[in-house]
Amino acid sequence: MQSTQETFGYQKASREKRDEGVQRVFSSVAKRYDIMNDLMSGGLHRLWKARLLSEVPKKADLKALDVAGGTGDIAFRIHEKTGSPNITVCDRNPEMLAEGRTRALNKGITNMTWQEEDAQALSFADNSFDLYTISFGLRNVTLLLQALKEAHRVLKIGGKFMCLEFSPELSPSGLQKVYDAYSFGIIPRVGGMVTGDAAAYQYLAESIRVFPKPEALATLMREAGFSCVRYETMTFGTVALHICHKI
Ligand code: SAM
Repeated sequence: MQSTQETFGYQKASREKRDEGVQRVFSSVAKRYDIMNDLMSGGLHRLWKARLLSEVPKKADLKALDVAGGTGDIAFRIHEKTGSPNITVCDRNPEMLAEGRTRALNKGITNMTWQEEDAQALSFADNSFDLYTISFGLRNVTLLLQALKEAHRVLKIGGKFMCLEFSPELSPSGLQKVYDAYSFGIIPRVGGMVTGDAAAYQYLAESIRVFPKPEALATLMREAGFSCVRYETMTFGTVALHICHKI
């Protein structure tokens, strides 16, 4: 089972080189990240995120941690649904977090915690959160099993883990050619025009192809200690939502 990602996109890379490469990508695109999400997915990322949100417990005192939370998209939605003042967004990238903090201020949200953290070594105490979410983040993490074990550690008994991520397994598989043409032919060009960094979006397309398929990812979640692992795919298998629990 692939518990560590040893490539940066298609290039072989050490953990240090890979982590550096991922940081560079998000520092470079942070300011235009949200607009690119809408452009690239034709707004579909909103539907995928809405599906994740439909599984968020509506509890006013929910203690939620959104890891690799970037500019805060998931955290804002959790805040809107629950009204909880106990939401923490963490990310390794200070530029992404800075964008998120600005968005929060613009929305008038002042009771959310923003923290620089590495998903592979979180600073939070054991059994701290009711909910752990990671949306389009896990694919960028090098030590997958380590990050999943950290998620399990910081969740309370009974806590819920949710991961939204691109998937390399399309259904029907005949769509692969069209998807490849779109993701390798169009996305890096549009990414280049909008953010000035076409290579970042080439990395995005490549990183999806080398990421574990949904069943393999579910196996890693079980290996990390999670129970009741289930997943569903959306939009012809391009995206998978995994849900599991710490019991
Ligand atoms: N969750 C947001 C969303 O759904 O729009 C942002 C996702 S963005 C594609 C991926 C984020 O993962 C980036 O902000 C990046 O800095 C963060 N990231 C990458 N590696 C990480 C790590 N090891 N620990 C924490 N965050 C990480």
